[in-house]
Amino acid sequence: MNIADTIIPAALRIPHKPRLAGMSRAELAEAAVSVGEPAHKAKMRASQLFHWIYFRGARSFDDMTTISKETRVKLGQKYDVGREDIARAQLSEDGTRKWLVRLADGALVETVYIPDEDRATLCISSQVGCTLTCKFCHTGTQPWVRNLTTAEIVGQVMLARDEVNEWPSDPDGRMITNIVLMGMGEPLYNYDNVVAALHLLTDNEGIAISRRRITVSTAGVVPMIGKLGEETGAALAISLHATRDEVRDVIVPLNKKYPIAALLDACRNYPGSANSRRITFEYVMLKGINDSVRDAKELVQLIAGIPAKVNLIPFNPWPGSPYECSDDESIAKFVEIVNRAGYSSPIRTPRGRDILAACGQLKSDSLRERKSRVTASPSTPA
Ligand code: SAH
Repeated sequence: MNIADTIIPAALRIPHKPRLAGMSRAELAEAAVSVGEPAHKAKMRASQLFHWIYFRGARSFDDMTTISKETRVKLGQKYDVGREDIARAQLSEDGTRKWLVRLADGALVETVYIPDEDRATLCISSQVGCTLTCKFCHTGTQPWVRNLTTAEIVGQVMLARDEVNEWPSDPDGRMITNIVLMGMGEPLYNYDNVVAALHLLTDNEGIAISRRRITVSTAGVVPMIGKLGEETGAALAISLHATRDEVRDVIVPLNKKYPIAALLDACRNYPGSANSRRITFEYVMLKGINDSVRDAKELVQLIAGIPAKVNLIPFNPWPGSPYECSDDESIAKFVEIVNRAGYSSPIRTPRGRDILAACGQLKSDSLRERKSRVTASPSTPA
């Protein structure tokens, strides 16, 4: 296999200052005032900073030539405009790129860039690890969890745009056209930071990615679903994976709290859902568990009336995973039933499997990486 794989040693850690990238206009205005800018200039400074940070992608105060040298120096003494470190960069045979991102406290998350003919999708993480323990998901086996901050969520997009050379923001010829919150973590368990991040990512004067091109995937945190639609207008994806509660209770334990009927009600009421804005139902194909003709028929009955598409995901194995992927014949039969019912059901081609970047495979690297760091430095949190 021809995999480019670069392990980048930890940079010499400079004391961590609050980062401007990740702040809203209001927070940038406060930051300006905190270094002595007069209140009547705060709004203008915030606009300038916003432009440099989110439109031009500035990584140094020196770049911000519309702001006086003196103010830049004062800002630099107290704040930082840099990025997180990339601990490891991997390139798959199929062009998929995976970055292991080292956060300021040493925690690690993964971000995946998936180029296609007509689009390029960035898959970002919302938490370090995940609390959900879905049986087929590798991330679910990771014990250590915290929410990412708004800055860390937006930071993954900014870092990826550095790597693919996409500054300043240009509405035409984008390198990253779509964003999916389908990396590590459950976005609706980190609701406030995710929503703040979506507002920053869609801001027309900054990164300006259309909210229609941002998809939030959830295993089904029912009370937050309607709110997400109202507050962000993001596209919704549901990790459904089973058609009966007794099966879903086992493979997606969150189902015991929010069963299938309640989840589908939330989908029926999702603000802005329409044929032009269909809800995506993700369905991982697990041999002998959820892949029968009966399952397929039940699935189309369940989602009847919801503008939807079904995204069938061949199960991606990981070391020690307790399931197998359905065979081609079962997948073909399943697809046929779903298609006949009038739903488009693309099979998600696994991308980046050779670098464990495909759905549900994220995480192993972070563990391995963490272990080696723990050996190197006994004071590192385990
Ligand atoms: N917690 C959110 C966001 C993660 S999205 C959610 O559950 O939707 C990651 C997607 O990959 C989910 O649809 C998940 O169910 C799917 N997935 C997880 N493990 C997988 C595996 N081993 N093979 C294929 N898909 C998997």
